[in-house]
Amino acid sequence: MDYITRNIPKSKKIALVAHDHMKELLISWASKRTEQLKQHELFATGTTGVLLTKQTGLPIECLLSGPMGGDQQLGSKIAEGKLDALIFFWDPMNAVPHDTDVKALLRLAAVWNIPIATNIATADFIMDSVHIDKDYATRIPDYQGYLLERTQ
Ligand code: PGA
Repeated sequence: MDYITRNIPKSKKIALVAHDHMKELLISWASKRTEQLKQHELFATGTTGVLLTKQTGLPIECLLSGPMGGDQQLGSKIAEGKLDALIFFWDPMNAVPHDTDVKALLRLAAVWNIPIATNIATADFIMDSVHIDKDYATRIPDYQGYLLERTQ
């Protein structure tokens, strides 16, 4: 696979998601970073987004609830270049009904070279990175080249 450069402006598009047992953790993490998170465009799956907005006052575009298709909506945004980072506290101790959607979301984030935080430590590393508040040139798969190769 060939890669091309994509320029991401300093205001990033960040998705926030937490499974039910992890929501409290994400809310307390986000509460400590509201000023910083406000500088970015925020998205979330339905329940996570409503709870986060209620408890932190952050403006968040809420998609469908995860089990109802919210993870798939985030995956679709990633594939269309409309998300720059994914903070996803998935639950390592409990199964969820939409496990296949979770796997698909994590897969697309890997395909499109999207930074993923699955716990507080990684979320801190991403938000404290030198790249988060600056323009950043990332590498993404050269989709046009991929398509051309397959259609010649
Ligand atoms: P929720 O979905 O925010 O609607 O709970 C999260 C998820 O399980 O993906």
